[in-house]
Amino acid sequence: MYKNISYFLIIFLLVGCAVPTSSINAELTPKNEYLFYIDEKTNLHASELLQTIQLPSKDYPVPEYLNLLPNALREYRSGSHQGIDFAIPLNGPIMAVSEGIIVRSNPTHSDVDIDTYNAFLETTQQLSKTPEDIYNYILLGKSIVIDHGYSIAPNFRTISVYAHLSSIADGILPGTKVERGQLIGFSGNTGTSGGALRNEKGAHLHWELYFEDASGKYFLGQNIPPELLKENIDLLFE
Ligand SMILES: [Zn+2]
Repeated sequence: MYKNISYFLIIFLLVGCAVPTSSINAELTPKNEYLFYIDEKTNLHASELLQTIQLPSKDYPVPEYLNLLPNALREYRSGSHQGIDFAIPLNGPIMAVSEGIIVRSNPTHSDVDIDTYNAFLETTQQLSKTPEDIYNYILLGKSIVIDHGYSIAPNFRTISVYAHLSSIADGILPGTKVERGQLIGFSGNTGTSGGALRNEKGAHLHWELYFEDASGKYFLGQNIPPELLKENIDLLFE
């Protein structure tokens, strides 16, 4: 009888402990100093960086407020944030964070009116996501995309995105080579509701950094827990 009880007790302890332990281990996967972490195979640790980059505007450090950082929800468009919102006021100079080649630049973009803007947002509600075309061609406003090739991380092509610009510097067109620190445009609110309303409210720089390999495209801060997000991201900048 006692033998049976202790037998069941041992089984209970083994089964009872095994399940929670494995899930706790998964949650405790160390993510210190990772710039993004998908799984053991697909991730980028700060020690692998070939070079640090500069801030898009040296006067504006990476914010601490989680709502301005990657992974924050963006319910107005049924999506989540994949970038950093720098609180740079209207017409602040924006620099290339590293050398690269311009992939996209739309200096002649003009914002839709507010009714059309709201209709696009309603579409995102119906889809429960932000479709890529609405995101890229409406919500980013005047924007620039730079291809940094493999100069920042050895195993990932790195791409930077600068959105909501009030204007784009002369000559910043697809195919143009830019240097680290080169002036590429000025901050604004294009692509936001303020832009659609033709006012000057809500100006800031929305900035993204992506790392791409054959398996997919990952954003800076992806899957990094909130308490490590700012300190991990800071490791990327000089
Ligand atoms: Zn943003």
